[in-house]
Amino acid sequence: MAQETIKEVFTVSDRIWRGIGAIPQSGYEVNEQYKKFNARLKFKLNLPTAEENKECISGDIMKGLKKPKQCPNFGNKCKPEHPLGAPMVSSEGSCAAYYHYAQADELVAP
Ligand code: SF4
Repeated sequence: MAQETIKEVFTVSDRIWRGIGAIPQSGYEVNEQYKKFNARLKFKLNLPTAEENKECISGDIMKGLKKPKQCPNFGNKCKPEHPLGAPMVSSEGSCAAYYHYAQADELVAP
């Protein structure tokens, strides 16, 4: 039922992902039929894009190319109390999870 509702209300669109960039056809946009409920249009919102910290390698982290501990900022310049990037901001972010459970990566087989 939820998938049917998503199909009814949204259309697939290009999306910019933090740390990764634009990925064609990777997001959703409220479709034409429901556009009167699209807050961005209704309130004429022109939201600024968030600047990404150039020192943050979150793209490599999210793509699985590097682990959080391979980031030179991990645990020193970047901590949950003062994050440089999204993966350290939320508790479920991979960098924050590694920070809180420091031995987690050592439990994974090489
Ligand atoms: S430790 Fe911080 S700076 Fe490094 S990738 Fe994670 S969020 Fe970005």
